[in-house]
Amino acid sequence: MENLKKTILIVDDTETNIDILLELLGEKYDVIVALDGVSALEIVEENEVDLILLDIMMPQIDGYEVCNRLKSKESSSNIPVIFITARDDENSIEKAYEAGALDYITKPFKALELLARVNTQLKVKELIDHLDFISSYDEMTAIYNRRKFFELSEKKFAHSKSNLYAVMIDIDKFKNINDSYGHPMGDMVIKLITKTISKHLSDDAIFGRLGGEEFCIVCNYCSFGGVANNIEEIRKAVEDLEIISDEGRRIRFTISEGVAKVSNDTKNLDELLKNADIALYEAKGLGRNRVIFR
Ligand code: GH3
Ligand code: MG
Ligand code: MG
Repeated sequence: MENLKKTILIVDDTETNIDILLELLGEKYDVIVALDGVSALEIVEENEVDLILLDIMMPQIDGYEVCNRLKSKESSSNIPVIFITARDDENSIEKAYEAGALDYITKPFKALELLARVNTQLKVKELIDHLDFISSYDEMTAIYNRRKFFELSEKKFAHSKSNLYAVMIDIDKFKNINDSYGHPMGDMVIKLITKTISKHLSDDAIFGRLGGEEFCIVCNYCSFGGVANNIEEIRKAVEDLEIISDEGRRIRFTISEGVAKVSNDTKNLDELLKNADIALYEAKGLGRNRVIFR
């Protein structure tokens, strides 16, 4: 069964402190312990950590430095950090918040209060993660939504133009599917097609839903042969799909794809997508269920 317990990392160089916190948190959470800052940073690299309880005074690197390093790395910048320390002067507290802490608990602490504050930060984190998800992904297909697709593609266009391609995809005669089998079946078709396309893409491909039944892939390919094979493979995979309706009717569908490559003259992402769009409409005009390169 999936482990639903949140993971808390305790970073403290004093074993008695660790024992107290383990006793308090061990039942409700999965707890990992680090006795110094360097090991804490290593643990965060290798584990899914949901929250960090961080001591300030430690050998080698202190809690502030650990927090600074966590916040400066994209992969760990969103992990909530609560300082837990004997220092209670204003300077230390201010420094902790400046380093990126979300809360500051002084020792000796009240057990129930600590539990409540840990719980609050975990809930806030969960809400932020959820908001991040719905602001970036399309609810129906779970691929990138239009906003996120453009954000990531703009970045890719700015940083790795060589061998960069855009593939515009549109489901053929999709209105017929809705008209013949109903909107919910249309939705099922969209979900199955996007799932199938995703399976054929590399991890660094950006695949998004631009609207309705239109999708786009932005991806670097090693060679023209590479992109040609991949995009044709996708077209074929969709052509081979089949859904059986409740009445036992076999529902088949196809897509058309327009592919454009960045050239020295391509001024911006919009121009690349426009070229892919022109190729897509050529594919439609030539009878659909095909790939056109531009
Ligand atoms: P073409 O081959 O030229 O692309 O023909 P088409 O019928 O696919 O194109 P058209 O633009 O005429 O129709 C697209 C249809 O897609 C109309 C719209 O109702 C439907 N559609 C858009 N978004 C969704 C959706 O989320 N779910 C369902 N079921 N239908 C959708
Ligand atoms: Mg269509
Ligand atoms: Mg369309």
